[in-house]
Amino acid sequence: MDENGVLAEYLHTMNHLKYLKCLICGREYAPDAIEYICPDHDNDGIVDVCYDYDLIKTRISRESLAANGDYSIWRYKPLLPVYPGAKVPPLSIGWTPLYKADRLGEQLQLKNLWVKDDGRLPTGSFKDRASAVAVVKAQEKGAEIITTASTGNAAAALSGICASVGQRNVIFVPESAPPAKIAQLLVYNSTVMLIKGSYDDAFELCLEAAAEYGWYNRNTGYNPYMTEGKKTAAYEICEQLHWNAPDVLFVSVGDGCIIGGLHKGLKDLLKLGWIDHMPRLIGVQAHGSNYMFEAWKNSEDILTKAPVSGVTVADSISAGLPRDRIKALAAVCETDGAYVCVSDDEILTAIPALARGVGVFAEPAGAAAYAGLVKAVADGLVQEDDRIVVLNTGNGLKDIKNTMMSVEMAGSTPHHIAPNLQTLKRIIQENRIL
Ligand SMILES: *Cc1c(COP(=O)(O)O)cnc(C)c1O
Ligand SMILES: [Zn+2]
Repeated sequence: MDENGVLAEYLHTMNHLKYLKCLICGREYAPDAIEYICPDHDNDGIVDVCYDYDLIKTRISRESLAANGDYSIWRYKPLLPVYPGAKVPPLSIGWTPLYKADRLGEQLQLKNLWVKDDGRLPTGSFKDRASAVAVVKAQEKGAEIITTASTGNAAAALSGICASVGQRNVIFVPESAPPAKIAQLLVYNSTVMLIKGSYDDAFELCLEAAAEYGWYNRNTGYNPYMTEGKKTAAYEICEQLHWNAPDVLFVSVGDGCIIGGLHKGLKDLLKLGWIDHMPRLIGVQAHGSNYMFEAWKNSEDILTKAPVSGVTVADSISAGLPRDRIKALAAVCETDGAYVCVSDDEILTAIPALARGVGVFAEPAGAAAYAGLVKAVADGLVQEDDRIVVLNTGNGLKDIKNTMMSVEMAGSTPHHIAPNLQTLKRIIQENRIL
């Protein structure tokens, strides 16, 4: 074969992807032998995507990354489950800022605190990382329609990225989803099913619909490639810290796909020898949606444990039965991490605290990660010298209703005044503003 032939073959070969391994029975499948899950465990047979790291090392290194000007998740393409020649969506996804949060750190007596802001992604949440991979995989298969169930953000992410490439999609979200998230779906022209029920109800119906109509299924904790998209945040954090991995990572947990993805990314980096230690992963859950916290704390069997209610002000982490619970439990157990549980009040308090302490405006589920850090400090789970990263997973503009509630709780109210200097002076004096 000539040089061009070799290149063409490389671009259309996925030989860095070895097999899909079932996390329940351990069975290994060739990548094209199953579409999503191991068929032996109803809808629970989540699989892990396994790679040939020796081959990957010939294609990417810390040095090649340093010279790579593509500041998106696709800079890590040799580590993703896509063809080297795959066309990727045009929206700019990834490489979100990692801010050193010194003032916030001082308040908590922590010397090394960073906040990574994924609220900056194109549709305003971490979910863009996974949906980008979903769209590439679906187009690889020539899918006419992609579908997902979602509490709102996964749907908005799929919707926006589909719009960027003209891909049709059908979305299932609870009708209680925040209006901003529903507005996103409609503006991007998705077909939107507002479910009279919970996220768990939407999930079940979406799985049935995908099977019935043969739609490409992006569902979290079902489609194994979502973890692969989400792992890119771990790569970015370590690269942004010059491959000196943090000691502790805080992230909120609903279905558990994000924390599982971070764990996967960190395991990849350890296997490549690019980092020298595994950070402790701390999963933060809301009191009303604390399935993983309970299972971890009481060593319960997550294959038989019954769903919890899933009621919380943080809609994005409301999951009665976390779909990616196997990966989510392993992420904490295998890293000497922990689950932390916070109240809705603590989550609402964390929204202005994070905004005022570092300038990052998070939706409730994003701020929950910071509320978890506050609790972990109080419980002695972290030390003063630990290098700590808190991940904000969603933009505050996603949920104005709860933001207004949070600032009211913080005692912040605007002044309604007539437009003249005299009134302004009176208000300033009365309120001791100066
Ligand atoms: C989805 C989501 C989470 C939780 O991710 P899981 O993978 O469901 O655990 C946290 N925060 C925000 C903003 C989200 O959209
Ligand atoms: Zn299996």
